[in-house]
Amino acid sequence: MNFDYEPAHERVYNLVGELGRARFFPRAAQHEQANRTPVDNLRDLFDAGLLGLSIRKSAGGGGGGALGEDPLVSLLVVEQTARYCLSTAQCIHIHYNAAHMVDQIGTDEQRERILQPVLQEGELLNATGSEPGRTARGLYGLTTVARPVEGGYRVSGVKNYATLAAEVSHNILYAVIEGIPAPEGHLGLMIPRGAAGLIVRPDSWNPMGMRAAHSPDIQLDDVFVSHANVLGSPGQFPRDHWQTKSHLSFAAQYLGACEGIFDLLVDYLPKRGTAHDSYSQLRLGEIRIAIDSARWMIYRAVGLWRKQHYPQAELFSMNAKHQAMSAAVVVMDKAAQIAGSSAFSADAPLARALRDLRVQTLHENLDKTAATIGKYHLDQPYDTSSRL
Ligand SMILES: Cc1cc2nc3c(=O)[nH]c(=O)nc-3n(C[C@H](O)[C@H](O)[C@H](O)COP(=O)(O)OP(=O)(O)OC[C@H]3O[C@@H](n4cnc5c(N)ncnc54)[C@H](O)[C@@H]3O)c2cc1C
Repeated sequence: MNFDYEPAHERVYNLVGELGRARFFPRAAQHEQANRTPVDNLRDLFDAGLLGLSIRKSAGGGGGGALGEDPLVSLLVVEQTARYCLSTAQCIHIHYNAAHMVDQIGTDEQRERILQPVLQEGELLNATGSEPGRTARGLYGLTTVARPVEGGYRVSGVKNYATLAAEVSHNILYAVIEGIPAPEGHLGLMIPRGAAGLIVRPDSWNPMGMRAAHSPDIQLDDVFVSHANVLGSPGQFPRDHWQTKSHLSFAAQYLGACEGIFDLLVDYLPKRGTAHDSYSQLRLGEIRIAIDSARWMIYRAVGLWRKQHYPQAELFSMNAKHQAMSAAVVVMDKAAQIAGSSAFSADAPLARALRDLRVQTLHENLDKTAATIGKYHLDQPYDTSSRL
């Protein structure tokens, strides 16, 4: 067992750390105020050769993503980006996961047409399952419908929380085939930029935090999607547990964001004159322990994906995500206690970090995750993609 980064991982970790300190962190306040996607940060990641990390190496990518040769490499980018700007981390996270899906289940023609522009021109991708009220209907209880027609499907419905919707070459969206309920009728569709009937609703993104992870509503008015833009086969996403393959990337976001809060505290407490205070020392130590325990669970799960021990990797990724999200909630509370109210003027970096992390830890119901792990250990039916 080896707890050290390999040289290639260390290089990526340090490179993104430099970008984060020099560019992402200084720009974060502006992006938040403007409520806009940090396209300059994403361009920096492209210029650094990091946009294709979740694409297989033989196609010119970095081999990252849950099913890739090197699942850690793209997670390190997400983690280190989150340390300096959590909104940018959400953008690169969704892009990596979408590109990984195309890489793993797309046809050769789709890989060439959709992923080469990612590698060569910096095109972005996303993936949106979310719909208003979906949680109550179940993860696959979608109301967006794909009606079979000659040459493809006509798609109608409304999606929400579509991170990067206005920036991507293709919005990857999920629908159900008319007359075939999910999970069998669940379908992945890649809708090209400018498709007739695809409307990114203006002014539909106004959250308390994560403002720069601009994630508007999308309206689909009878959008034609050709067979060439259908991703995978009907029912493949639920069947192959694709939701599960992004668990660790969420965990990496929480981990990185906590590291960012830790950095801010280590800088702020001595300036405030409270570094000698025993309560500050105690809370900071507790924060460090929470972060480190989440980190090693994430890396342990990475090892299971790398060894292709898939059922165990899926379950342990849930453990790791639960730990990272629980740690994040604790870290926010303890950080607030020792920083004090003066650290919370609206434009203070710590205030932004907490706004963003509070919103970003609402993707998932922690109890549901823990109960799924319990089901497995009690030999009950379980689903590693259930989360809300
Ligand atoms: C910054 C950000 C970016 C996002 N980007 C994307 C993206 O790119 N793609 C994408 O697909 N999604 C995205 N999401 C959506 C995300 O994955 C979740 O779908 C969304 O956060 C759920 O929030 P909600 O308010 O709609 O939840 P709700 O459906 O309102 O549920 C809220 C809570 O209520 C509880 N609850 C609701 N219904 C029930 C029930 N029937 N029984 C028991 N408990 C229930 C759950 O515990 C849940 O936690 C994003 C979210 C955020 C915050």
